[in-house]
Amino acid sequence: MGEFELINRFFAAASCAQGGEGVVLGIGDDCALLSLFPGEQMAVSTDTLVAGVHFPAVCDPCLLGQRSLAVAASDLAAMGAKPIGFTLALTLPDVGPDWLAAFAEGLSRMAHRCGMSLIGGDTTRGPLSITVTVFGSVPAGQALRRSGARPGDVLCVGAALGNAAGALPLVLGERVAPVELAAPLLGHYWSPMPQLELGQLLRGHATAALDISDGLLADCGHIAKASGVAIEVNLEQVPMSSALQAFLGQDAARRAALTGGDDYVLAFTLPPEALSSLQGRVAVHVIGRVLEGEGVTLRDPQGRDITPVQRGYQHFRETP
Ligand code: ADP
Ligand code: MG
Repeated sequence: MGEFELINRFFAAASCAQGGEGVVLGIGDDCALLSLFPGEQMAVSTDTLVAGVHFPAVCDPCLLGQRSLAVAASDLAAMGAKPIGFTLALTLPDVGPDWLAAFAEGLSRMAHRCGMSLIGGDTTRGPLSITVTVFGSVPAGQALRRSGARPGDVLCVGAALGNAAGALPLVLGERVAPVELAAPLLGHYWSPMPQLELGQLLRGHATAALDISDGLLADCGHIAKASGVAIEVNLEQVPMSSALQAFLGQDAARRAALTGGDDYVLAFTLPPEALSSLQGRVAVHVIGRVLEGEGVTLRDPQGRDITPVQRGYQHFRETP
C-alpha cells in the first residue's frame, strides 16, 4: 500500500475527517482551511507520543488512537478553548491495515467525544511516533493562562488525581488487579476525557489554569512561576479515587496523585467569590491556596511542610 492509498483509506475516509463547524477545507490539499468567528482567537498546541516512552510499543491501537487525541485536546481545555480540528503526523515502521483501521477508529471515537475533526497530517516511515496538533477557538482576551494567579485565590482541581499513574504497572504488565479496580484505572490511562466543558466554563472566572500532565506539584510550580506567587497544596484535600487507594494503598496512591503524570485534569486558581458561583455547576475540588512568595509547598493536616523532592516527570532534568 502506498502513502496516498494509506491516507485515503484510513484517514481521509475516517468518520472524524468528514468536516465540522469551522472546517472550510479538510484533508487533500496543501493546507487545511479553518474559519473563526469575528472576535475569536485561535488556540494551537502540539503533542508527540513516542512508542516505548509515552506508551508501550505493543498495545491496543484503538486505545492508542483515543489517548493520542485526548492528551492533545486537553491543552485546549486548559486554555478554555472550544475544539475545532486536529492534524496527525504519523510515523510508522510498516503498514498494518488492521492496526491502522483500529487506530483510526480510536481516533474517531475521541474526536466525536471532543467535537473536533481530523483536517490533515503527514505520513512517514520510521519508529512508531504520533504527533497531534490541535486547533481551537477562544473569545479574544479570554484564554485561561498560567500567569494570572493572585494571592488570596483558592487552588482547585477538576477531578480525582493519580488514576493514570496508578494504572501504569497494569499498562506495563508488571502487576495485575481484579477487574473492578483495573478497569477504572486503565480507563483513565487509555482514554482520559479532556475537561473541555469545564475549561470553557472557567473563562471569566479562573485567574490561571493548566492541565496536569507531569504531576500536580510539578504543574502547580508552572502556575506559581508564571504568576509570580507561592502555591500551597493541602494533602488531605487532594481527591483520589477509591480504586486507586484500594489498588496502591494510601501512601503510594498519594504519591501517584501528587507527582504521577498523565492525569489530564485541570488545575486552576479562583478568587474566593468565583468559587461560590461555580460550585454546584461544575466539578471543583479546592485543594489549596495562593500566597505571596514563590514555589509550591505541600502541607499535612497539621500544617507541616512535607514537600517531596521529586515533584513530577521531566524528559530532560534541569542541571543543578
Ligand atoms: P504535502 O506533501 O503537500 O505536505 P502530503 O502528501 O503529505 O501533502 O499529504 C496529502 C494530504 O493528506 C494533505 O492534505 C495532508 O494534510 C493529508 N495527510 C497526510 N497524512 C495524513 C494523516 N496521517 N492523517 C490525516 N491526513 C493526512
Ligand atoms: Mg507531506
